[in-house]
Amino acid sequence: MELVRELSDYRQLKAEIENLKKEKRAVILAHYYQRPEIQDIADFVGDSLDLARRATEVEADIIVFCGVHFMGETAKILNPDKKVLLPEPKAGCAMADMATKKEVLKLKEKYPNAWVVSYVNTTAEVKTVSDVCCTSANAVKIIEKVPSEEVIFVPDKGLAYHVSKKVKGKRIIPFEGFCPDHYLFTEGMLETLKQRYPDAPVGVHPETPPSVQDRADFVGSTSQLLKWATDPSLEAREIIVITEIGLKYQMEKKNPNRKYIFPTPEEGVGYLLCSQMKAITLEKVYETLKEEKNEIELPQEIVKKAKKPIELMLEWST
Ligand code: SF4
Repeated sequence: MELVRELSDYRQLKAEIENLKKEKRAVILAHYYQRPEIQDIADFVGDSLDLARRATEVEADIIVFCGVHFMGETAKILNPDKKVLLPEPKAGCAMADMATKKEVLKLKEKYPNAWVVSYVNTTAEVKTVSDVCCTSANAVKIIEKVPSEEVIFVPDKGLAYHVSKKVKGKRIIPFEGFCPDHYLFTEGMLETLKQRYPDAPVGVHPETPPSVQDRADFVGSTSQLLKWATDPSLEAREIIVITEIGLKYQMEKKNPNRKYIFPTPEEGVGYLLCSQMKAITLEKVYETLKEEKNEIELPQEIVKKAKKPIELMLEWST
């Protein structure tokens, strides 16, 4: 009885959100790491690059961004005249918070000829002192286009490792940041999964540590992992995927004929789960849109300066 009531509340909430979207000319953008029910109500679900692109094409008055703070900031920078709402204003990215503008400026002083390439997982302030942004989907392509030989890469040392293996003729100077969720996944944990599923190919996100990346069959961003793992031509019934658990939902939707093994306690290792991404619930989306609260606000000067490296990334990644 309780479950029936919960289900009907859930459907009711979804219907209310749909009505509010129409009434207020709003769109919902959601990252792959969001809860399944949030992915279901979104107009568009994607990785950071897809979402940044979508944010430039949005024809709406309000963008409800289901992701973490830097993603909402990016949407605001690309749409300064629109209302960008973040259903959980405290949802931040620990990796983005590891890099400050002051520290980046110090590195620039030390390496005056280097270009600063910032992962989109940075604050708007850090973007104001960056030359170009990148995501894990386009980092290699962007760095190949950078005109300098030296590149300061901020803030993810996991992605910096991946890029330095792929790009020839550049010296990558990594910042010492990392994603606490991906970087704490160890090669020992991977070994546990490989022993359980010896025939399963392994795909990992480049935010994982180098020792994990080196043992993978495929290293790619969330959208690249999604494409690779669901490709019908890949001969595998089971696939090990090392990234945030939210991506499993899209994989199962896209190709349900496969088993996707993500890190979970049932598989003998801990969850790889971003608590900040999971902080957004249907109730919060509903309240945020209804009351038009939790708006992202940025000083004009920051918007102006931070827009340049994001736009250059979009130009270079087409
Ligand atoms: S998974 Fe890691 S990098 Fe992604 S938002 Fe969460 S803390 Fe940041």
